Amino acid sequence: MTICFATNNEYKLIEVRHALAPDFNVLSLQEINCQEELPETGHTLEANAYQKANHVFEHYAMPCFADDTGLEVAALNNEPGVYSARYAGPQRNNQQNIDLLLANLKDKQNRSARFRTVICWRTEQGSWYFEGIVKGTIIEERRGKGGFGYDAVFVPEGFNQTFAEMSLEEKNQLSHRAQAVKKLVAFLKESLR
Ligand code: IMP
Repeated sequence: MTICFATNNEYKLIEVRHALAPDFNVLSLQEINCQEELPETGHTLEANAYQKANHVFEHYAMPCFADDTGLEVAALNNEPGVYSARYAGPQRNNQQNIDLLLANLKDKQNRSARFRTVICWRTEQGSWYFEGIVKGTIIEERRGKGGFGYDAVFVPEGFNQTFAEMSLEEKNQLSHRAQAVKKLVAFLKESLR
């Protein structure tokens, strides 16, 4: 069955294709020739994931899933959340986003946070949601060179290293995205039985 993952992120595609082969042929946005920017105007991760998946479903007549991720910080009323990519402004700069996060947490005792990923799977039968969460702590200074986004200041619960200090393999085993993908894959495989 041919389906679309509403992304052009090679790293996400590899992970998902590997998990769904050979039953599902997963096409990227580029591969379905979708060049327009997908709508992402929702105020929740669920709304944005739905908007993206639904756009492809409606305009390209193909079952589609899309993901959206946010960092939810307890002492900041779960911000930046759905606005994680553009926390410090529309330029979507990871370093500026981290600087702003650390500044906003400067006087806070509670530094607990979580990454949350929501995947929406949209077909003509309806839409389904799959969630993955990793709890952790925001440390005071960056550590590590790997990863992206907020990885350098996030230490997952039960570990001493930040996501940016872990190998990609290690991070992938516990990441929020990996957990959501695992649930989607289980659902899709079950749907074939
Ligand atoms: P997206 O929905 O995957 O595009 O993620 C939105 C934003 O959340 C990214 O631009 C990053 O700032 C942040 N983010 C998502 N996943 C991660 C992660 O695994 N580590 C660190 N930051 C992340």
